[in-house]
Amino acid sequence: MSNRVQHVTIVGGGTAGWLAAGILNAGLNRRCEEEDVRITVIESPNIPTVGVGEATTISMNLTLNQLNLDERDFLKQCNGSFKCAVKFANWNHNADGGPIDFWHPFSRPGYLYGHNATYHFMKLRRAGGPQDYGDAMFPSLKAIKDCRAPRQAEGKDYDGLFPYAYHLDAGLFADYMTMYATNTGVEHVRDDVTAVNLDERGFVKSLTLKEHGDWPVELVLDCTGFKGLIIKEALGEPFRPYSEHLLCDKALAVQIPHQEGAPLESYTTSTGMNAGWSWRVPLYTRLGTGYVFSSAFATDDEAIREFRQYLNLPEDHPDPRVIPMRIGRSRRSWVKNCIAVGLAGGFIEPLESTSIHFTQMALRWLIDFFPDKEMSPALARHYNKVTCDLYEDIRDFIVLHYATSNRTDTPFWIEARQPSRIPDSIGERLELWRHKLPGALECNHNWSLFESWNYIDVLMGKEWYGDRALPAEDAIAVDDFKEALAQMAQQADRIYASAPAHRDVLTQIRANDYRPWYNPVPGAAPAAMDEIADAAASAIA
Ligand SMILES: Cc1cc2nc3c(=O)[nH]c(=O)nc-3n(C[C@H](O)[C@H](O)[C@H](O)COP(=O)(O)OP(=O)(O)OC[C@H]3O[C@@H](n4cnc5c(N)ncnc54)[C@H](O)[C@@H]3O)c2cc1C
Repeated sequence: MSNRVQHVTIVGGGTAGWLAAGILNAGLNRRCEEEDVRITVIESPNIPTVGVGEATTISMNLTLNQLNLDERDFLKQCNGSFKCAVKFANWNHNADGGPIDFWHPFSRPGYLYGHNATYHFMKLRRAGGPQDYGDAMFPSLKAIKDCRAPRQAEGKDYDGLFPYAYHLDAGLFADYMTMYATNTGVEHVRDDVTAVNLDERGFVKSLTLKEHGDWPVELVLDCTGFKGLIIKEALGEPFRPYSEHLLCDKALAVQIPHQEGAPLESYTTSTGMNAGWSWRVPLYTRLGTGYVFSSAFATDDEAIREFRQYLNLPEDHPDPRVIPMRIGRSRRSWVKNCIAVGLAGGFIEPLESTSIHFTQMALRWLIDFFPDKEMSPALARHYNKVTCDLYEDIRDFIVLHYATSNRTDTPFWIEARQPSRIPDSIGERLELWRHKLPGALECNHNWSLFESWNYIDVLMGKEWYGDRALPAEDAIAVDDFKEALAQMAQQADRIYASAPAHRDVLTQIRANDYRPWYNPVPGAAPAAMDEIADAAASAIA
């Protein structure tokens, strides 16, 4: 009897469940002599998805490209927009107590004469050179600040003037992925899992479904959201909270219309509030906004009052909904024959929009680590190690934003940067970075989402170094950087001249109809096998 896993059951039909179905189906099926792995998504018709999660990282471009999806169709179907940077406002204050803003784009400054260009910038700045780090070092920023898009409507898909990610409507994206997955062969069962049945080894043997009865399981993905129906409730895998390090544990979410006539921002904004921070995600059709806060420092009513005032919501506008957040990770994501993906596996506050990125990585890794029915503990162990490393790495990068804040105006901001809140893994690096800029050795692992230049951007944006000279600058001649700066300024002008207005380009894209290579009809039969094979062959590089 074949030991091959022939059936993967995915429980949960949120962003994690459907992304998992799409990525696994594209990665596992249709290109080998063996029969396809059957993939089923079981989705409760009664339990809603979390309904948030609308900003992505640049890994989404790669995923959509690998699935061979038309970028313009995706943007149209999901009311999507381009995300080219995160703007941070009011995370730090200047000497007068006024807010400092800084930008975190997806581009990276290079090297000059063996030194990170930021060293050159710092030395030249002290000698009277350009003062704003972002403006000087990121040629794309001039266009981004003016709400420009990174590509033309008619340009090549996934190929921008500068790097970008997307904003998307979470509900529409789940529908879009459902359409893609079900039309390429994924089975969709709308039913509630009412029991998880284990065998004598503690493996998940079957699920009991309310309507469909007993559902045998070979490999199951738990994508049931924060509750972790299988990994936590049935298998009892402990949860490792990050509440010691990250104080925010609730969010308010609300959707509001765009201001009439205002340009469409091509960036996410994160603004420091009294007990946390607020996100602002501009979709084509509306703004998604929310307030991530710490319940130890604001009650729901206080947070709602502050947020309503901040947004200037009219009195008849309903209160934003309150979403409790479980911050941390499952001790292991892969236990026996269950792998927890999405919120079921863990969640770190959405400051840098990392959760959907995490789901994509989990699936790429699963394809690489795909088991047979034996469920080798060696595969699970290594998968769990990289998963845990990525969680801790992202946690550290998020903690960095709080640890380097200098706000003293509310108890939340003072508490959030107390040394006891800062994990050693980032505390020790911050100590090191008093003497040097973050470098690849301390930051860049092959699974890292955030590399040294991301850390540098936050430290520079928050004026962490002030006017201090770092030892590495001794070897730099002040004039060395002037020519490079002039070239970057010219590049900024060139990009600016070529980058179309964000709203205009999306309007043009949305005016066309696109015919995906799969048959995009709800409930339709899967596309012909040769059509799928052709598309899939060009999809996964
Ligand atoms: C406030 C907030 C803001 C966020 N912002 C971002 C962001 O900007 N960027 C980002 O990348 N991520 C963000 N996230 C995370 C993002 O929302 C999630 O990663 C993403 O939505 C995936 O969620 P999920 O599919 O794991 O869970 P859910 O959306 O909760 O889906 C769970 C699914 O499980 C099903 N289910 C549950 N129980 C059963 C059962 N018994 N039987 C059958 N089915 C069941 C439900 O019906 C549902 O379909 C944010 C999260 C929060 C809380």
